[in-house]
Amino acid sequence: MIKTVTVIGSGVMGRGIAYVAAVGGYQVTLVDISESAIESAKKEIEKILSKAIERKKLKAEEVGGVRASLTYHTDIAQSVERANLVIEAVPEKQTLKKSVFETMDACAPSDCFFATNTSTMSPTEMGSYTNRPEKVIAMHFFNPVHKMPLVEIVRGLETNDETVNIVQEVATNMGKETVVVNEFPGFVTSRISAMVGNEAFYMLQEGVGSPEEIDKAIKLGLNYPMGPFELGDLVGLDARLNNLKYLHEKLGEKFRPCPLLEKYVKAGRLGRKTGKGVYDYTDATKS
Ligand code: NAD
Repeated sequence: MIKTVTVIGSGVMGRGIAYVAAVGGYQVTLVDISESAIESAKKEIEKILSKAIERKKLKAEEVGGVRASLTYHTDIAQSVERANLVIEAVPEKQTLKKSVFETMDACAPSDCFFATNTSTMSPTEMGSYTNRPEKVIAMHFFNPVHKMPLVEIVRGLETNDETVNIVQEVATNMGKETVVVNEFPGFVTSRISAMVGNEAFYMLQEGVGSPEEIDKAIKLGLNYPMGPFELGDLVGLDARLNNLKYLHEKLGEKFRPCPLLEKYVKAGRLGRKTGKGVYDYTDATKS
């Protein structure tokens, strides 16, 4: 039974995962090598808590319990010593994930389960960095974690049924719906999202329509909640380009990144985080 969850990496995703885990009733440790990332995660979690009270998703008297179940740490080794489940959410770099998984394996109890929040990388490979590949799986959360309803659970080659059942139960307790899929590059969601986002860039490059017209067509004609350019600007055009490069390498020509997307990234137009992507957010009416 899972009681304690350690989340490694307190960035955009890790802080959200720590929040939903605490609200789901788990004792949570959120770890980062960066003190400033931890400070910013604490502030963000406080903001989400205040909004949850305002919107009546949490009662004021529940907030103390959620706060008390969250602790923060800067040392991975110590923070996993008593964990039942570790969820890794460090940046999408193979060498970094490898070293984090090796430390997790060396320091966590032998019956602890490991999940990775990777968007594209292989949970089978992460399993191979450990002596417990049957207990390693991907739990793919979506941004913003506290709002998005799905966790895409991706089994690696060696992942056993017990691990699938355990993480499904944890995700359900976090208030999430789940799908369980087998590993293949891009899973289900990253693969479709990359394809749609890339195709939209090709249309823009070909002069089919303006970003506003293309986004409006996809939202109202296909019932997507966000247009592909709005979404690309939110997740970051650099992240989108990296995913496409990976999928192009693994799955071939259909994922070749659009030259216009590459041009935007070279120019530093990365999306909301830099103030400009496909849209310009320095104009207050767009943000
Ligand atoms: P991020 O850059 O916002 O946060 C990563 C955090 O990890 C940083 O705070 C960094 O200081 C910390 N970190 C780096 N090395 C560390 C180490 N050795 N030990 C502990 N902490 C360390 O990244 P993110 O957007 O939260 O992405 C994290 C993972 O989630 C990636 O694998 C990404 O592909 C995946 N993901 C991201 C999104 C998204 O929309 N951002 C969506 C789904 C999945």
